[in-house]
Amino acid sequence: MQIVIFGAPGVGKGTQAKILASRLNIRHISTGDILREAIKNKTELGRKAEKIVDEGNLVPDDLMGGLMKEVLNEDKSRKGYILDGYPRTLNQAIILDSILDELKNGIPHYISIEAKDSIIIERLSQRRMCSVCQSIVSLKKLENQSVCPFCKSENSFIKREDDDVEVIKNRLNIFHNTTSPVIDHYKRNANVIVLDGTIPVSEVTKKIMKIIGVTA
Ligand code: AMP
Repeated sequence: MQIVIFGAPGVGKGTQAKILASRLNIRHISTGDILREAIKNKTELGRKAEKIVDEGNLVPDDLMGGLMKEVLNEDKSRKGYILDGYPRTLNQAIILDSILDELKNGIPHYISIEAKDSIIIERLSQRRMCSVCQSIVSLKKLENQSVCPFCKSENSFIKREDDDVEVIKNRLNIFHNTTSPVIDHYKRNANVIVLDGTIPVSEVTKKIMKIIGVTA
């Protein structure tokens, strides 16, 4: 099964992608996670992407297209995947469509999770990331705990550089100006499942599972 999940930064697409990948036993491909890992490991891609990612801007399409082609052709992607964070521009959508045509694995499910900017800004300014397993948690849920509920690392929570309020606003602008047209493109040409990102996480998962025809 292939799924492409869309949504503004902070709307909960990464959280849903992680849950769905685990429930459906398919690969979670997060371009944001891949880039952050590359930056951490100071690879060539990481060095090229670091400043761009920290400022909340988009990494050039040619770099992202090359990365996608490589990742989708890996054996790990054969039994299915959920793509989280790609495509973000119309050009990336064209590149993805041509990779998928070549791979001949059928048409993916397209999912768009949506919420108002004010809710997203509030959520992103509250969120922290485990620097070990990259899981996202809200300060509200974490309260004063210092242990990651997912990988049990201690004192591993950091605020992502790009979760600074000014950077968040830049990321939202880019989302509305550049990524929304991509979602509209798929809404015109494919069947896009649209979900409300303000309902509880488990409800969103349930709805997705039902719509894609998987019983939990
Ligand atoms: P995310 O974790 O999906 O919010 O991505 C974090 C950052 O990685 C974005 O703000 C961009 O700087 C970069 N990034 C992730 N995916 C892409 C993409 N498909 N195209 C360009 N830049 C990307």
